[in-house]
This record gives sequence, C-alpha cells and structure tokens, in this order.
Amino acid sequence: MEFSLIDRIRKLTEQGRDDVRLGIGDDAALLAVPAGQELAVAIDTMVEGVHFPSGTSAADIGWKALAVNLSDLAAMGATPAWALLALSLPSADVAFVDGFASGFAQLAQAYRLALVGGDTTRGTLTISVAVHGFVPPGRALTRAGAQVGDAVLVTGTLGDAAGGLRMHFARDPSRGESTYRPSRPDHSKKEGHEDAHMAYLAERLNRPVPRVDAGLALRERASACIDVSDGLLADLGHVCTSSRVGAQIEAALLPRSPALLDLFDDATSCEFALSGGDDYELCFTVPPQHVAAVQADLARLGCGATRIGRIVEGEGVTVRDRDGYPLARDRQGWDHFSA
Ligand code: ADP
Ligand code: MG
Repeated sequence: MEFSLIDRIRKLTEQGRDDVRLGIGDDAALLAVPAGQELAVAIDTMVEGVHFPSGTSAADIGWKALAVNLSDLAAMGATPAWALLALSLPSADVAFVDGFASGFAQLAQAYRLALVGGDTTRGTLTISVAVHGFVPPGRALTRAGAQVGDAVLVTGTLGDAAGGLRMHFARDPSRGESTYRPSRPDHSKKEGHEDAHMAYLAERLNRPVPRVDAGLALRERASACIDVSDGLLADLGHVCTSSRVGAQIEAALLPRSPALLDLFDDATSCEFALSGGDDYELCFTVPPQHVAAVQADLARLGCGATRIGRIVEGEGVTVRDRDGYPLARDRQGWDHFSA
C-alpha cells in the first residue's frame, strides 16, 4: 500500500548493515542477531496533539519519534540496531513524509540504525516506532537494582522540554493554553539572550538527544536506570517501585539549564525539573564509591551527570528544599521554593 511513500522512506533512510539480511520490501524483514547477544526491544507511539503539539515540523516529528525509542534502549544500556515504523497519515502527503523521513534518518545515521520495515495507513497522524538493540546477556540496566545508600544521578539538565512546550504555547495561543508569563522583573534587559534561550528550549523539546552512549557507559557501574520521559518524580518512582526502595531528592541540586533559569522563576523551573516530561535524560543509581568515576565518564561523553539525591529505605520519592524540609505538592505545584 502507498508504494511511492514507502519507497521514499526507504531511500531516505537507507543504511548498509550486514545483519539486515532482508529489509523493506518483503512480507517481513530478516535480521541476524549477533551470536551471544540479547535482543532489547521497545516500542513507543506518538499522537499529534498528545505527544507533540500540532504545528511541529515533519522533520522534528521524525527525529523525535525515533529519539524517544532510542532513549528506551539507552536506559537499558543497549546498542541500537534496527527499527520498524508504523505511520498513520491523514493523507498521502509527500512533503510530510519526506520531511519526516529526513528527520528520522538524521538521527538513525548517528547510530547506524537501519529502518527494516513498517506499515503505512490512512488515519489521524500517529507514529509508532519499534526499536531493536543488542546487549550482552545479563548485562542490561533495569529499574530493579537500586540499593539503599546508592547515589541518584541524572544526565544533562531537567525541565527544558517542559519549558519549551510552555514557550511554544505562549508564542501562539491558538495552539493551546497560554500560561507563560515573563517571570523576571528585569526580563526586558535580557532580550539578547532571550531568543537564544527560547531556541534552546525548543530544540530540547523537538530534538531530544537520546543518551545512548551514556547508557552504554553506565552498564558497568549503575545499579538501576530509567529514562526521564514522564518527569523525574514519576520515573524515579518507577525505579523505587521496581527496586523496593525509596529515594530522597534535594531540590537545590536539580540540574537546570541557563535558558530555563533565565526564562522562568525558580519555583516554575523546579516544577518543570521535577514533573515536566519529555527530557529523555537518564536517571540512574550507583554505589557511592562509583559516583566520581561515573561523573568523569559522562563528562567525557559531553552530557555530564549530577548527583541529586540518594536511595533510602521505604518507598516513593521525597523532595527536600534547601533547608532540608520536605516539599509538598499542591494544586499550584511545589511549595517552599521561595528561598
Ligand atoms: P504487507 O501488505 O505485507 O504488510 P505493506 O504494503 O504494508 O506490505 O509494506 C510493504 C513493505 O514496505 C514491507 O516490507 C513493509 O515492512 C514496508 N513498509 C511499509 N510501510 C513502511 C513504513 N512506514 N516504513 C518502513 N517500511 C514500511
Ligand atoms: Mg502492511
């Protein structure tokens, strides 16, 4: 079905890999898993208006649809290899498909990932990508290994995608709720930075960089790992549940970008860092004696890692303010950020 579209996708994403015995064009792909490796597989679906705002460019959608999946492989410490793509499109829009495939291919090339098949149908714009990667047997990172006393770290910075989404709606209120207000009294003085900072947050929202190399580096030392797709508290909560432990996070340690700190006040940027989704950083736990080595490894890879708290007995995630008092969440967000 829709052969010309499929053909365009195939051409734009071509990637020579010996382990693809038969790629796009037959009833199924034939793939050779390297001897002695486990196959790590994941699938994620993105729906317009739910997982990305309407008005996102085709190329950004293509990039992000793959990025969110590679992020899942990263969190397992797996090496990406292959992908399947199920596309549901409102019409046979060649320009959209070309843009989508080029954004997808840009990221795929970075990891020599081959698109080996998929499905194309008519319907609401919906993109499902399935990815396959390799990991040595028994060496995958899971959510289940965190131990009491382990340090909790996170790569990169948190809250940027939530900031980018807020800015997106602020620019064009017709696209949705507009709640962004310049939060600093001296905002006008920063106009020079403001454009660059807004562009940075938009990039973080639309072109997340999956921490694949970081995941591979962590395989040796992390006790548990998850990618931050739904927000730090939710995702670290999953680690706690799987590992049967609790976590204590220090709000003052949350890594936030200069752009986020410039465009939003402290309480808002903290709220985004704790609860905003779509960052695709890795949150992981390591025994305290490995923290320095892990931080050196990840600094070398360019993303860095910040220690934000520790694993404790009990259950769930608690957040403490600068003075060590627990923060409580109310309808307005997180309380006690006035310091
Ligand atoms: P079938 O009827 O066997 O499902 P299709 O016409 O759906 O065949 O697909 C033909 C070939 O194109 C298959 O190899 C399929 O994997 C591939 N394909 C279809 N849609 C896509 C897509 N969106 N991306 C990549 N490959 C696709
Ligand atoms: Mg089909």
